[in-house]
Amino acid sequence: MDKNYNHFSEKEIYALWEKRCLFNPDSFPSKKKPFSIIMPPPNANDPLHVGHARFVTISDILIRYFRMKGYKTLWVPGADHAGIETQFVFEKKLREKGESRFDFTREELYQMIWNYVQENKALMIEQLKLLGSSCDWSRFKFTLDQDIINVVYSTFKKLYDAGLVYRGKKIINYCPRCGTSFSQLEVDYVEREDFLYYLDYETIHIATTRPETIFADVAVAVNPNDKRYKNLIGQYATIPIIKRKIPIIADRLVDPKFGTGALKITPAHDPVDFEIGLRHNLTPISVIDENGKIINSPEKYIGLNTTVAREEIVKDLDHFIVKTEKISHTVGTCYRDKGIIEPTLSDQWFIKVSPLVKLSLDAIKEKKVVFVHKRFERMAKHWYKNLKDWNISRQIVWGIRIPAFRCNSCTYWNITSGEIPDKCQYCGHTKLTQDPDTFDTWFSSGMWPFATLMTTRKDDFKTFYPTSVMVTAYDILPFWVIRMIMLGIFATGNIPFEKVLLYGLVRDKFGQKISKSKGNVINPIEMLEKYGADSVRNSLVWGTLIENDISLSEDNIRGQRNFANKIWNIARFIKISFSNYPGLVPKEPSKIRKRLNDEDRNILKKLQLTVKSVSNNIEKCKLSQAISCIYDFAWKDLADKYLEGNKSREDKDTFLCVLRFCFTNCIKILHPFMPFITESVWQQIKEISIDDSDTLAGSAWPTNRNL
Ligand SMILES: [Zn+2]
Ligand SMILES: [Zn+2]
Repeated sequence: MDKNYNHFSEKEIYALWEKRCLFNPDSFPSKKKPFSIIMPPPNANDPLHVGHARFVTISDILIRYFRMKGYKTLWVPGADHAGIETQFVFEKKLREKGESRFDFTREELYQMIWNYVQENKALMIEQLKLLGSSCDWSRFKFTLDQDIINVVYSTFKKLYDAGLVYRGKKIINYCPRCGTSFSQLEVDYVEREDFLYYLDYETIHIATTRPETIFADVAVAVNPNDKRYKNLIGQYATIPIIKRKIPIIADRLVDPKFGTGALKITPAHDPVDFEIGLRHNLTPISVIDENGKIINSPEKYIGLNTTVAREEIVKDLDHFIVKTEKISHTVGTCYRDKGIIEPTLSDQWFIKVSPLVKLSLDAIKEKKVVFVHKRFERMAKHWYKNLKDWNISRQIVWGIRIPAFRCNSCTYWNITSGEIPDKCQYCGHTKLTQDPDTFDTWFSSGMWPFATLMTTRKDDFKTFYPTSVMVTAYDILPFWVIRMIMLGIFATGNIPFEKVLLYGLVRDKFGQKISKSKGNVINPIEMLEKYGADSVRNSLVWGTLIENDISLSEDNIRGQRNFANKIWNIARFIKISFSNYPGLVPKEPSKIRKRLNDEDRNILKKLQLTVKSVSNNIEKCKLSQAISCIYDFAWKDLADKYLEGNKSREDKDTFLCVLRFCFTNCIKILHPFMPFITESVWQQIKEISIDDSDTLAGSAWPTNRNL
C-alpha cells in the first residue's frame, strides 16, 4: 500500500463500478422499495460549475446510501438542450465568424446547433463521472430525444383537449434585442430613475414615464372615487400632436395618488392597461413592433427605436409638457441582456394555469409532495398563488417545435400529438402551415420526471414513479419545481416526486455570488484534479445546512484532503499490522467478547451510536451533521484515542480485530460522502474485511444486527 493516498486512481475506481454494473437497478433484483432520483438535466452546452457539483454530491450521497441499504436504486442522468440559453451562445459564435442566424434555413440552423451540443454533451458526461455520480448511464436522456419529444407532444395535446391551451392576444414580455418573449418569471424587475412627464391632454393632465407611446393611447382613466375628476368621466381628452380624441373612463385599477391621478391607457404596451382595455372594450393600437421600432405613429417617428423616439417626441411635445419630475420606479428588464422589456401585444400559446395550480396546492396540502424545508413550501405556495397564465411559445429554432398547424384557408389552428395533419379539421382544406415557434424550455422540462421514466425501460415508470426526491437549487423553484408538480399531476394523475430537497447556492469565501465577471469562479474539475473528487464533494456539504448558501474556497477543499489522508493512514496501519501477524485471523468482536477490555467495548459502542446517528441524519437529509459525525468518530475516537492509545498493547490480536471491525464499518458509512478513497481502501484491505463484497459501493450498510 502506497505511503500516501493517490487520487489519480479515481478513474480506475469509477471504471470498476461501471464494469460491475453497480448503478443499474436491473442488476439487483430486489423486492425492497425502489428509491429513485431524476437528475435536473444540466445544460448540455456548458461545462459543469460548482453549483452542479453540489447537486451531484447531495444526490449521490442519498443514492449510494439507499443502494447500500438494499433499495432498488435508480438515478437517471440527462442533459438539457436549454433552448434560449444555447441558441444565444451559438448565435454569438456565428457573429464572431461574421455570420448570422438569418443566413441559414431553420433546418440547417437546428442541425448546426445539434452538432455543437453533441460535442459538449460528451464532456459534461465525463465530468459527472469524475465527480463520482453513481447514475445509470444506460438510461441517459436528452431533452430533445425523439421519444421525449413525443411525450411532450402528447401532454400538450392532452392539455389542449382539456381546454387548458389557448391562443391569445396578450401582453407578453418581449425583448426586442433577443427577438423573443419571456415568461413572467424571466423578467428581472429593477429600480430605476426616470422622468415623469406631466402632459396636457386639453381637458385633463396626465402623467407618464413613456411619452413615446402616446400615439397608442385609447383612453384616459381615473379612479371612480376621485372627486377631482368626477365630472370629466364620459368626456373626452385629446392626444397632443395628433389631436386624436379619446374617452375619459373610470377604473378602480387607477391609483389616484400617482402623478395627476389620470392614467393614459395604452393596452398594447402595458399589462395593467391591457386589463383595463379589456374591461372597457377598447381596441388596442400597437406603436412598437417586434424589433423595438416605432410604427403606427406620425411619419417622422416611424422606424426609430424607442429611446430615440422618446427624445424626439419629448422635444416635439414642448408646450404640452406641464412639468417633469424625476422618479424612481421599477421596470422590467431582460434577464439576459439587462435591457428594457417591451410589454407587447402578440399572438402566443398559453396554458391556463388555475386548474393545474389547484391540483398542485391540493397535493402539497395533503402532504403527497413534501418540501423537506418548510420555508420553501411557503415560497412555492406564494408562487402558485401569483402565477399568471403561462405563455409557452418562444420565437427561437432551438427547441421542440409546437405541433400546431394553421389552416391556410380558414385560419383554424389544428393541434396534434406531433403528426402532420393531412387536412384541416374545421374546413377540410389540405394546405396547412406549422407554427414556427418552439416550446418554452420549462414547459418540456416540467415533464422531465415522467417523460424520462416513460422512455427509459418498459417497467421503469411503474416501478420508479413517483420518484423519491427531487434535488435541485432553490433558485429554480418557480421556474421548474412548481411546474413539474402541475404537469406531473395533470399528465399522470400522480405527483412527480414525494419529496423536494432544495439546496442553497455556492458562494465564494466572502459570501459573494460566483460569477465570471467577478473573477471568483471555482472550477470544480480543476479542483478535483488537484485534490481529488472526494475533497470537492465533502467541501460542498461540510459545515452548512443543505438549504443554506455555502461559502467555498480552495482552502476548504484542501482541508478535506487531510481527512482523506487520515483515512488512508489508518488503513495502511491496519494492513501493515496484519501482515506483521501472518497467522492472525480477523474475528468479529462478538466472537471474542470475553477478551474485550473497557476501551474495546467503548469504541464499539461509539461505532454503534455513530452508525445510528449517520443513518438518521442522511434520511432526514441532514448531510452536514452526518459527515461531521463520521469525521469525529474516524479522526478523534478511532484514530487519535483508540488507535494511538492501544497500539502498543499486549493483546495486539484483540486490538487489531476491534480496530479492523470499527474501521471497515467506518469506511462503509463514509462511502456515500467520499466514494473514491473509501473504495480504494476497501480494495486494499478486502481480504481482511468484514464481508465478502467485491466492491464497497456494492456492499451492505451496517445494521444493528451485525454491529
Ligand atoms: Zn433580451
Ligand atoms: Zn380550415
